[in-house]
Amino acid sequence: MSRYDLLGVEAQLFEQYPALADRHEKAARAGSEHIRGLIERSDATRGGDADAFAEHVASIQRSALASYAASVRGIVSVEDMVRWVRTRDALRLSAYDSLLREVDAPGAASLLDALEAVHDSGDASGGQATLDQALAAVADRCTCGYASTRNLPKRTCYVCAQAVTAVWDAEEQRVLLRLPALREAVDGVLDALVDRLAEIKLDPATEWSVVEHEQRKARHRLTRLNRAARGEIFDEMLTNWRELATAASHDSRPIARSVAKGAKRSGLGTARLSAIALPGNALVESRAKKRAQQR
Ligand SMILES: [Zn+2]
Repeated sequence: MSRYDLLGVEAQLFEQYPALADRHEKAARAGSEHIRGLIERSDATRGGDADAFAEHVASIQRSALASYAASVRGIVSVEDMVRWVRTRDALRLSAYDSLLREVDAPGAASLLDALEAVHDSGDASGGQATLDQALAAVADRCTCGYASTRNLPKRTCYVCAQAVTAVWDAEEQRVLLRLPALREAVDGVLDALVDRLAEIKLDPATEWSVVEHEQRKARHRLTRLNRAARGEIFDEMLTNWRELATAASHDSRPIARSVAKGAKRSGLGTARLSAIALPGNALVESRAKKRAQQR
């Protein structure tokens, strides 16, 4: 059992119970607004207490989960509830996920992810910044120490993880500009993955393991492409990219972390893959919406 299984069960329940999906969307929207507000406030009071910030985030998450749980009571059948609880209880939850133990509410794991996923705002690095600049911009909000000390903690905090992801993706695009053939092939693989994930999203019968399978397949394709382009890729082209991949492998988001951990093998394209693989990726969402309209 992995966290993916729980997210998979939830995805099926959202399809099955539109009311559940509706409450989830509302809770995710309200919760992320709170977190954004908190980030803006701590921006205004530069140099605010890092521990207090982390505590604030946790308390926003806790109250969002509690009111979500209250709002979805009675929506799913007893059997589906039991299935969700069993899947959750079979997981070894990290400290980050421990909040899930406090509520019996299908959708809670996805909600927790949504409240974590501030990655779409893209304001941290402006896309083209260096890691130094991106980290300097978030140093006053960093709660893990990485932004100021550059010592990688076991898990980077939100703002550091987002800064790293954004800079890693930008660096990868920069390197690929010098490798047009590889870039085209990588674009092809990742575009096909977005297509496939959008298709899966629209099919309620799909098991979450299919999503994992598609991600693995894309990873293998990237590995082959990078291997074939070995002769054109010089070590020094990858110095920054590798440093960023290492930092990304300390991401607190389990999916992003596991993709980044394989970066050495899967090579160029992995930074973008790690963003596409995150639940709720904007590209996949909009592709799914387009597909749904064309039906
Ligand atoms: Zn940090």
